[in-house]
Amino acid sequence: MNDFKNEKLFYEGKCTEADIDAAFEAGITYPHEIYYLAGEATRKKMIERLMATTDSHEANQLLTMLAMTGYANPEVQAAFIKLERNPRPWRSKLYVDPSSYAEYGGWSFTPEGEVYKLAYDICYPLEASTGLWEDTCLQCGEDTASIFTLDCTDPRLAHMGIGVVSNIICTECTIYETTFTKYTLDGNEVDIYGKETDEDLWTTDLVIGKAPKFTCNDRWSKQGSVGGLPGWINDANYEICPECGKKMKYYATVPLEGAGNFYLELCPDCQITAAFYQQT
Ligand SMILES: [Zn+2]
Ligand SMILES: [Zn+2]
Repeated sequence: MNDFKNEKLFYEGKCTEADIDAAFEAGITYPHEIYYLAGEATRKKMIERLMATTDSHEANQLLTMLAMTGYANPEVQAAFIKLERNPRPWRSKLYVDPSSYAEYGGWSFTPEGEVYKLAYDICYPLEASTGLWEDTCLQCGEDTASIFTLDCTDPRLAHMGIGVVSNIICTECTIYETTFTKYTLDGNEVDIYGKETDEDLWTTDLVIGKAPKFTCNDRWSKQGSVGGLPGWINDANYEICPECGKKMKYYATVPLEGAGNFYLELCPDCQITAAFYQQT
């Protein structure tokens, strides 16, 4: 598999449509995020090739790449919906349907073809966080937990349209199993979902950057981020809200030093957040 030579420039949002078209013509398929900024001509070529292919390996790559361009693009959406309803022979060799591939681009669609969003476009770097992972975890009892609290009443996060979001993260148990958190919008009550206690955890002290950064997140960045599209280390993963059963929305990445990333998701309707971990 060829690597994209301008990866660093890409994650700074500085690659042109011509660079990306050249990458497509050179057969570059990874990281698939590079196609987020693909121009219309490249996108059309990708759709044509996807609709024509008989090869499951190529279909897998094109679905992942096109997913990055698709949230606001009706032609990509139409192609995905068509292939989901009328599967080609290659579908039997893939693990999941086109609606799951769409999740790499932070969107998906219902069986009725209604497109919905699983992420926020605007992305801010996470510049500092202190006091992480030092409190007693209500789940495993180790001194490795704290509350990641994001004040979305800050004007920079106003597009998220929610209050204060809290998410318990434990560097011991969240590594192995998703931690679900129930919170109140004023930030005053935060508990592991389904385990109400009177104990209070430390709250992390977070600082987000003054200016937004490029939407796509580099999965190997040592700097966390709020919003944008997650850079998955493993497969795209959107947890199911334990209360309403809908897919949760991605809202932050917190890297764990030298290892992998915690991915944070939320259900704004039920005020439940999820934290889970991926590493190579
Ligand atoms: Zn724990
Ligand atoms: Zn819910």
